[in-house]
Amino acid sequence: MNQAVKSDTPNDESNEYYAKHKKIYPRKVTGLFARLRVLGVLALLGLYYLIPWVQYDGHQAVLFDLPARKFYIFGLVFWPQDFIYLALLLIVAALALFFFTTLAGRLWCGYACPQTVWTEVFLWIEEWIEGDRNRRIKLDKSPWTAHKIRIKATKHLLWFLFAAWTGFTFVGYFTPITTLWQELTTFSLGPWETFWILFYSFATWGNAGFLREQVCIYMCPYARFQSSMFDRDTLIISYDEKRGEPRGTRRKGVNPREVGLGDCVDCTLCVQVCPTGIDIRNGLQYQCIGCAACIDVCDQVMDKMNYPEGLIRYTTENAMEGKPTRILRPRIVIYGLLLAFLTGLLFYSMATRTPLRMDIIRDRNVLYQETTEGLVENTYILKIINMDEKPHAYHLSVDGIKGLQLVMRQPKITAPSGKVITIPVQVQVDPVNLKKPSNDIHFHLQAVDDPELSITETGRFLGPVIH
Ligand code: SF4
Ligand code: SF4
Repeated sequence: MNQAVKSDTPNDESNEYYAKHKKIYPRKVTGLFARLRVLGVLALLGLYYLIPWVQYDGHQAVLFDLPARKFYIFGLVFWPQDFIYLALLLIVAALALFFFTTLAGRLWCGYACPQTVWTEVFLWIEEWIEGDRNRRIKLDKSPWTAHKIRIKATKHLLWFLFAAWTGFTFVGYFTPITTLWQELTTFSLGPWETFWILFYSFATWGNAGFLREQVCIYMCPYARFQSSMFDRDTLIISYDEKRGEPRGTRRKGVNPREVGLGDCVDCTLCVQVCPTGIDIRNGLQYQCIGCAACIDVCDQVMDKMNYPEGLIRYTTENAMEGKPTRILRPRIVIYGLLLAFLTGLLFYSMATRTPLRMDIIRDRNVLYQETTEGLVENTYILKIINMDEKPHAYHLSVDGIKGLQLVMRQPKITAPSGKVITIPVQVQVDPVNLKKPSNDIHFHLQAVDDPELSITETGRFLGPVIH
């Protein structure tokens, strides 16, 4: 790529890799992409804070009940045995990330990543209490006075209240939030709940209040490998060097070509609004989270100068070189097809999921037994898991060999909701019906009150060697 992704280089002056962290004071920006980000923040945080309070069918609509090993998602209840759905979901999420990154760069980082979203809210609070960029810089440089202490303390108090509500909400996804609220207000929270609420509160406070861009630059692995998903047709945020250079200040109304300049007025506003403190004019850099703040601010500068907008814009490397951009390319098609297939598979398998499981464990101590009536008998232990939200009685049957008989000590199988029951059963058959020493047999389990709720599992039936 022309615009090579720049990596860490030694600090020029000291020739060392270590550079002291410089605090970044992003300037507030308005414009189309800023509005989109605000919408994204409100929608995502709104969902995050509201969802745990939603009730569905007598329980919390979304609850990951770890002690009971049950995950409720509205009408669905997932068990540890449903791990396959989680694995599928993670694969779909990873593929979606690959697909959208190849198509349109770091959309996730710029608009939806929790680090971006919470940092944005922390910045709003900071701006509200401490003022705009210049006032914040001035305040930080000023000596510690009562006024400064009051302003800083107010900001940290608000940050911490917001972070504490975030930690409380997070724990509310694992412990019923209404109970948690009751415990919180009566000072009777358990030690683990207290620990996790405080842990997530401090993590939010630290990440969004202090670490900010350092999480993106130094801690997030995605920043490091995302450029490997880019190609010449990926939508990226770029500075149009051909149009902008040579940069330089000039009076409004001056034709830049007449004074030997490009369209960049070198106002550095694109650097001042950048949350990671980089200069997009130096080319594509891995620190760029694709927030588009520099597009918004540069467009405003272009408008003021009566120049066309788009000196910094979403574009592709091919488009920058005047070549056509291809949206449908092999990588996109493969990611897209895989994503559509696996998403369809996930929804289909969840929609047709049966909340009933049966494991068949054959008694390994003996191959088979002969009964006094001369029948061949195999013994099994059936582990039945009722993953439904109500108890069921079940009917069990077996087939696979002519004349198979099922012998059960207990005539009725009943399983309460969410319980695993163990049933020993014997299966007998007349040896004349055995054509071979090892046979597949099929156990059918069906709920008495709901014939649709049924499951079939295969077991092995062993008999004597036939000569
Ligand atoms: S905001 Fe636009 S005009 Fe100002 S320095 Fe950046 S690229 Fe140049
Ligand atoms: S360079 Fe532009 S898009 Fe990238 S992080 Fe900075 S402001 Fe956002």
